[in-house]
Amino acid sequence: MVKVENVHKYFGPLHVLKGVHLEVEPQEVVVLLGASGSGKSTLLRCLNFLEIADEGKIWLDGQFIDPVKTDLNRVRTDIGMVFQHFNLFPHMSVLENVIEAPVHVKKVPREEARENALSLLRKVGLEDKKDVYPDALSGGQKQRVAIARSLAMNPRVMLFDEPTSALDPELVGEVLQVMKELVEDSMTMVVVTHEIGFAREVADRVVFMDDGQIVEEAEPEQFFAQPQHPKAQQFLSRVL
Ligand code: ADP
Ligand code: MG
Repeated sequence: MVKVENVHKYFGPLHVLKGVHLEVEPQEVVVLLGASGSGKSTLLRCLNFLEIADEGKIWLDGQFIDPVKTDLNRVRTDIGMVFQHFNLFPHMSVLENVIEAPVHVKKVPREEARENALSLLRKVGLEDKKDVYPDALSGGQKQRVAIARSLAMNPRVMLFDEPTSALDPELVGEVLQVMKELVEDSMTMVVVTHEIGFAREVADRVVFMDDGQIVEEAEPEQFFAQPQHPKAQQFLSRVL
């Protein structure tokens, strides 16, 4: 579903991704771990072309994405992304937030987008909040709306960048629950998270980054029991 080959990214003199290789199979759930500053967010942003890699190649669903020749806005609609901060439109109701991109970017007829949005809001348990504004929601509810909004574009892959890091602890579970339901629906997902319990339970594979490179990949059971790379050992001794 996703293939990344030798991706490099620089910010000025700073070499942030140093030759990343990654493949994600259809329906696979990959949890991406690594210390702060190791390049996790930059890698996700390269995967949905919010950042353009300076070197290397990316394929989506078997198709090579040439950032110069491809309509990246079109590509981005296939890749849902959920951030730590929810980035909902504050001046729009929950329902309007969810139908905005399908209607304006994908040109889905409004009534069809509305029906789909209502079913997604039901899925994340927020159908009764469809007419309220984001300000009236808790952080967990906002994040569930953000997930519904991403799903409204019918993406092939969902990327999550620390989706629960900004939440009060008692609100983390409801967001992880929605993500687990996506896993059950066979969504292909790449998730940056510090929720080790979630990683253990749902990841097919854990990928550990250090200093702009993937230095270890393993099944969660293996990774958490016996991390091989010294930096992975160090990381786990801090978070476990
Ligand atoms: P992580 O998500 O693993 O914490 P990031 O991908 O956010 O790491 O950042 C990796 C490195 O790149 C950090 O040193 C960070 O300061 C730097 N960086 C990230 N985005 C930018 C940017 N837009 N401009 C300059 N430096 C950046
Ligand atoms: Mg980050």
